[in-house]
Amino acid sequence: MSRVAIVGGGWAGIAAAVALADAGHDIAVFEMAPQLGGRARSVAGEPPYDNGQHILIGAYRDSLALMRRLGVDPEVVLRRLPLALPYPGEPGLQLPPGSPLIAFARGVLAHRGWPLPARLRLLVAAGGWLTRGFNCDVHLSVAELCAGLPATVKRDLIEPLCVAALNTPAPQASAQVFLRVLKDALFSGAGSADLLLPRRPLSELLAGPATAWLGERLRLGTRVQHIEPGWRVDGEAFDAIVLACTSVEAARLAAPIASDWATSAQSLSFEPIITVYLRSPGSALPAPMLALREGPDAPAQFVFDHGALGGAPGRFAFVVSGAAAWVARGGCAEAVLAQAQRELCWATPPVIDKVLTEKRATFACKPGLVRAPARIAPGLWVAGDYIKGPYPATLEGAVRAGRAAAQGAGADAARAANGAARGSPTNTP
Ligand SMILES: Cc1cc2nc3c(=O)[nH]c(=O)nc-3n(C[C@H](O)[C@H](O)[C@H](O)COP(=O)(O)OP(=O)(O)OC[C@H]3O[C@@H](n4cnc5c(N)ncnc54)[C@H](O)[C@@H]3O)c2cc1C
Repeated sequence: MSRVAIVGGGWAGIAAAVALADAGHDIAVFEMAPQLGGRARSVAGEPPYDNGQHILIGAYRDSLALMRRLGVDPEVVLRRLPLALPYPGEPGLQLPPGSPLIAFARGVLAHRGWPLPARLRLLVAAGGWLTRGFNCDVHLSVAELCAGLPATVKRDLIEPLCVAALNTPAPQASAQVFLRVLKDALFSGAGSADLLLPRRPLSELLAGPATAWLGERLRLGTRVQHIEPGWRVDGEAFDAIVLACTSVEAARLAAPIASDWATSAQSLSFEPIITVYLRSPGSALPAPMLALREGPDAPAQFVFDHGALGGAPGRFAFVVSGAAAWVARGGCAEAVLAQAQRELCWATPPVIDKVLTEKRATFACKPGLVRAPARIAPGLWVAGDYIKGPYPATLEGAVRAGRAAAQGAGADAARAANGAARGSPTNTP
């Protein structure tokens, strides 16, 4: 039996580990933190906080399949809602049930907040994207792609969707990746555009069940220091390695073996996300998720009512994506509190409960970005949300990268194990 090491236990590492074990390989997962989950983990609290509010969508096919494989029923741990972007006091865009493409057209036509010419211009633009197969010049930004759309449509739909999906503001975000997200949401079958909001703490979605499933194959609290061709992880022999750690750590580990690959991984820049939890006992929002209008003194783009989602009553998660300016400026939590007091109704005065700042939440998804490939050398593969592919940094991107790396590493490991049995190992760079 061939042995494969997986370095890193975020969603990419978990996906790679499960795929490799299911394919019959002997695996070991090295995770430097005391728990699995990476950026999609729970943080201590009663009940636990999420390390940032996460949203999945119906098109996250591989993530949902992975949850089921580990015995988690997505219908139980996630609340499925038809795509809607209500603002405080305004219904906003609401997609009716049915085929997502037709629902999108019907939802746009029924939008009462936009004048008819604005609705028609959005449908004409979307028709153009569809005709071109959701492809565009890779150097185009989302702001450039949507330059001809009315300001209200950009403000109420394009800009919040862009920052939610790509964690990059529209003027700096890749139009090609944005179109790919739209394509997946509108063309992956019924329910693909639905929002899936966690009802349970994030770790219960995947990391907790994966910990139990991996058992002794998991080495928590173990930061891998170096890898060597052949392959070795801190001196221990394997037939192949999947680097499923962050891009910074993967570049450090790979640098002595493949300096070009390491340079490419190191060239990524990052966008922060700040999550501000407010507490207000007895309060509830009119919907589990509301969009908010971002402005110079209004940092948050979305707010989630955890009580309405089956979590802690009176806990509200405000999300500040693309938060570089607020990290530099400071005072984000206080500005969110003031925004919440101005824009929403509260039964009791809200207070700041917890502030989580992830400075490297995701890579900045810029136009023309060249991302590092998944294969470094025979037997050395990489998985992570930043690896070359059509998706922005998302759970689904991480899971798909994990599965792809597992396939490559598994094939290389089997060849190496067979070669070793015949006396001629093959996995050298
Ligand atoms: C605040 C926030 C909000 C987000 N919201 C969403 C959302 O709504 N929807 C969505 O789809 N995505 C969202 N994302 C993105 C999503 O969380 C990531 O895309 C995904 O979790 C990345 O998984 P990964 O496995 O690629 O990387 P990571 O989760 O970073 O996992 C890497 C793992 O490697 C470990 N590691 C690093 N170095 C070593 C080493 N040397 N040895 C051993 N282990 C090591 C780390 O401890 C970590 O556990 C959000 C992210 C953040 C931070």
